[in-house]
Amino acid sequence: MKAIILIGAPGSGKGTTAEGIKAATGYIHVATGDMLREAVARGSSVGKAAESYMKQGTLVPDEVIIELVEERLDEGAPADCYMFDGFPRTQRQAELLDSSLEKRSGELANVFYLDAPRELVISRLTGRRTCRECGTIFHVVNIPPKKEGICDLCGGELYVRPDDKEDTIIRRLEVFHSQTGGLISYYEAKGVLARIDAAQPKEEIVGQAVSLMRAR
Ligand code: AMP
Repeated sequence: MKAIILIGAPGSGKGTTAEGIKAATGYIHVATGDMLREAVARGSSVGKAAESYMKQGTLVPDEVIIELVEERLDEGAPADCYMFDGFPRTQRQAELLDSSLEKRSGELANVFYLDAPRELVISRLTGRRTCRECGTIFHVVNIPPKKEGICDLCGGELYVRPDDKEDTIIRRLEVFHSQTGGLISYYEAKGVLARIDAAQPKEEIVGQAVSLMRAR
């Protein structure tokens, strides 16, 4: 088993980059935020435990996240290659991922830090539109759908995520800096971290990530 991680502030382009890397490499995209939104939509026990944190823009407790990820990995095969998007987000999650990989004889191959200035992430998040059906991400200015309010891929309805409101965005950025930012030096010390300038076009970002993956 092999794993890569995408770290970045909300709005740094993790989801969009992950779609590009998936198309180029076939890595399995594991986005805890998407999994939680599905759980909320289903009304499952995980969804009920997570919903209020997500609405406020704070982190869902580590135990809930770890269980979600472990269950997902248990479904996979030993040769699978995973791309984690939005996970880990705390030191504890990172350490538990280390032990989970060790238990499965897995290798953490790359960690990409999508480095984006604050004004950029705020403008990306305020203009973001997400497909309710397939989760594809659009932007009113940068990646407009062909038909307003409709997903190009599946025809689903595009909506503004409840946590993409201005005050929640500010809280999520604070949470990223206080609880997730420390992981950059954690992975730097392990020698697996690469910084990528997230202000570049998507194709550049994906291209750099994929060539770093191939170089390992
Ligand atoms: P995202 O789609 O990655 O921006 O995640 C949306 C929300 O889901 C976050 O603001 C958190 O409330 C929650 N969430 C997603 N992933 C995690 C995680 N690894 N740890 C804690 N909370 C998470």
